Amino acid sequence: MRIGGHTSCVAVAHEDEAPRLLLDAGTGIRRVPALLAGEAFRGTILLTHLHWDHVQGIPFFIAGDRDDARVVLAMPAQGDPVEVLAGAMSPPHFPITPHGLRGDWSFLALQPGRHEVEGFEVLAADLPHKGGRTFGYRITDGGRSLAYLPDHGPLGCGDGPDGLGARHEAAMALAHDVDVLVHGAQFTADERELAADFGHATVDYAVALAQAAGARRLVLFHHAPGRVDDDVDAIVSLVANSSVVPVAAVEGMEIEV
Ligand SMILES: [Zn+2]
Ligand SMILES: [Zn+2]
Repeated sequence: MRIGGHTSCVAVAHEDEAPRLLLDAGTGIRRVPALLAGEAFRGTILLTHLHWDHVQGIPFFIAGDRDDARVVLAMPAQGDPVEVLAGAMSPPHFPITPHGLRGDWSFLALQPGRHEVEGFEVLAADLPHKGGRTFGYRITDGGRSLAYLPDHGPLGCGDGPDGLGARHEAAMALAHDVDVLVHGAQFTADERELAADFGHATVDYAVALAQAAGARRLVLFHHAPGRVDDDVDAIVSLVANSSVVPVAAVEGMEIEV
């Protein structure tokens, strides 16, 4: 009721501008048109990976599915991007293919490394996850920075110093000295085995990574769908006395970086 139940989508904007960069296209993308004051979306969507909870909003993004929209949709390189997306978005799974979207859409296979996107510098890096190539992103405008690692399974790279998962090179590079770290928090430390099975991290890992990398703020994101508001509050309070004080991501939350 308070935290919200949409799946992953984060809109990034330069100061005093409408958002031109979206991170993932889960059902949360349904909230983006309200940020555009009736205008079409003209910008870039960076997908971390192709799991349903990160792409299902694409055909329901009404600011992107209109004649005057211009959208670049970029995903981790793994063959023809339209074909990859059509694996979930084409008949009989869905009435249209990616080419059925109105407006000027282009589809890009993104390589890891540094890219210039919508006036931001973007660093893309492969992250361990399960079931398909997955990137994490670091976005900076030169002054401030944001790291986005919603689906990240560090236990796939080893136990790390405390059994929570490796502080591996890609995660450390993305989160190094970052102003805001948005990190997956679907599982608690008690659910470590489940987290490893699903290719995700625990909340405690997110806190440990934030501390190790020198992140200044931590936003716990990608909550387990079965939890209610009180559950999420309880999880946040369990890790509240760490040196990087975490907050729970809430639908519609605005963060000034
Ligand atoms: Zn995933
Ligand atoms: Zn996910």
